[in-house]
Amino acid sequence: MRATDATRIYFDAAADQLDLSASMRRLLLTAKREVQVSIPIELDSGELATFIGYRVQHNDARGPLKGGLRYHPQVDLDEVRALAALMTWKTAVVNIPYGGAKGGVSVDPAARSTRELERITRRLVDEIHDLFGPDVDIPAPDMGTNADMMAWIMNQYGKYHGFSPACVTGKPVDYHGIPGREEATGRGVGALTLKLLGRLGRRIPGTRIAIQGFGNVGTHTAKFLHDAECTIVAVSDATAGFHREEGLDVLEMLRYAQAHSGRLEGFKGGDALTNAELLALDCDVLIPAALGGVLHKGNAEAVRAPIIVEAANAPTEPEADAIFDRRSITVVPDILVNAGGVTASWFEWVQNRQHYQWGINRVRQELDRILGESFEQVWQLAQSRQVSLRTAAYMLGVGRVAKATVLGGVA
Ligand code: NAD
Repeated sequence: MRATDATRIYFDAAADQLDLSASMRRLLLTAKREVQVSIPIELDSGELATFIGYRVQHNDARGPLKGGLRYHPQVDLDEVRALAALMTWKTAVVNIPYGGAKGGVSVDPAARSTRELERITRRLVDEIHDLFGPDVDIPAPDMGTNADMMAWIMNQYGKYHGFSPACVTGKPVDYHGIPGREEATGRGVGALTLKLLGRLGRRIPGTRIAIQGFGNVGTHTAKFLHDAECTIVAVSDATAGFHREEGLDVLEMLRYAQAHSGRLEGFKGGDALTNAELLALDCDVLIPAALGGVLHKGNAEAVRAPIIVEAANAPTEPEADAIFDRRSITVVPDILVNAGGVTASWFEWVQNRQHYQWGINRVRQELDRILGESFEQVWQLAQSRQVSLRTAAYMLGVGRVAKATVLGGVA
């Protein structure tokens, strides 16, 4: 199923509940602007290579567009379009004053040198610098991109428009970033997992967790839940997967990954398991924190976890979601649970504009408050309307965007 068709199905379920008109649905589903650019660069070998970059600016009814930049070989316009719409609903669910956008470059970052990635990033900025900026559209890191790349974006943007740290978020702390941004998505995933366990009356210590993906989101989620005395029984990344019923040594895994360019291949502290085995593992909470579309109708019946927490964007296809619903598996949706990153990005943007910096404690406190309140609103709506947490989150997000559209007017 195409990524846009999947997000459309989730949107429609909420739009039905909200009784939105056909014309409002069409307006909300249509992207404001979609851009595709070519990115020719000279490789280290001296050869010429041309990459394709995308930026989809979905909806700015509630404020400037906001969304990550993904570097992955499978990036295409349909995926970026779907992820941009998710950002619109996500910023609205946590009620921060942004719209939604997404960007990406079809490139395998693991196969490119740092210098090549810098050339790609700077050339992308050359192509789209007049389409983004502090009051227009603010990129951030996503899969395959990191704080250093955000620093290159700020620096390159500044060559055209002058000093503008708020043109991009997720920057290094020593280069106009803020402490706590890097951990924010994983921290939010961990914190809301604990909230859900509390709501379901389950004991937190010893909760058995399986995590797919050990990058920015996966590592911080693992560390947060490990610190909360959960047992991380399985972890995988693109190179390997490991299982240990008594719990993996998460800190040792983090050290290992750090020493091996972020890869887990060769780690000795657990039994090998495949990604398919991890998704079907007997555990209490399954956390997909890597690619989209990993839970589909082909493997949904095999899932044994009673709780799925969507740290990744769009990990569950609608057919799988329907199967989970029938099997009473609780799914905490991406647009709620992984919103910690964009929320901390908002803090960074606000502070860049004020030329001020909060300490880590204030960042964590504000983040926990905003995510906690959003979780409660979604939980209450799901209870009162007898809908899934996903439909409730979409109702909250889509409803707020529709309201802002009416208030702002369209003419
Ligand atoms: P990342 O690039 O830092 O890490 C990705 C991880 O996924 C790596 O460990 C990689 O090895 C692993 N992976 C890739 N292909 C895999 C496969 N086929 N099987 C298993 N593992 C695989 O990316 P990230 O920033 O951690 O993002 C992960 C997910 O979270 C994405 O869906 C992203 O859109 C979403 N997300 C990220 C943020 C953020 O702040 N970084 C915010 C919200 C949502």
